[in-house]
Amino acid sequence: MVYVIDKILISEKELKERTEEIARQISKDYENKNPILIGILRGAFVFLSDLIRKMDIDVEVDFMAVSSYGNATQSSGVVRILKDLSENVRGRHLIIVEDIVDTGLTLNYLIRNLQAREPASIEVASLLLKEGRQKVPLDIKYIGFKIPDRFVVGFGLDCGQRWRYLPYIASVKKVKVF
Ligand code: IMP
Repeated sequence: MVYVIDKILISEKELKERTEEIARQISKDYENKNPILIGILRGAFVFLSDLIRKMDIDVEVDFMAVSSYGNATQSSGVVRILKDLSENVRGRHLIIVEDIVDTGLTLNYLIRNLQAREPASIEVASLLLKEGRQKVPLDIKYIGFKIPDRFVVGFGLDCGQRWRYLPYIASVKKVKVF
């Protein structure tokens, strides 16, 4: 079995418009707060870079890289930090920028991990949220799009490291190879 692109779920235009809306909202909510946007590598790098270029307030950017043990399309909830923040975040306003929330286990781990560093606040901006899949209660302030339970790629998201470069969000499907 191999994965192939199935269909486009969210177009380039829709992604651009929604990202701009979220950037405007964050700019309003965080005026004079100088938040740190924490991009979760690798998937969030496209969303984060589009987001900050549409904001009109002073922000800082930092990154964490995490990997969840699991196979290509299923997260296990056991998270390993591959790269930690470069800055001390104590007393700062943090916005975790994620590509997608599926079970929510990765995000739940990240929030608890960051909370221990005593920031002033933590909110989450996730480009995508898979509806009805969360295994833990989560309060996500900024959500780009709610999508059905399909495995998706593009705009930073991958399937076995493929297709991050696509400018749209597409679903993938498994096909038999003979
Ligand atoms: P969760 O812990 O189940 O919420 O999974 C979150 C992480 O799994 C995301 O940050 C992605 O890296 C990955 N992931 C979950 N669903 C998808 C998908 O449909 N496409 C690509 N990556 C996904």
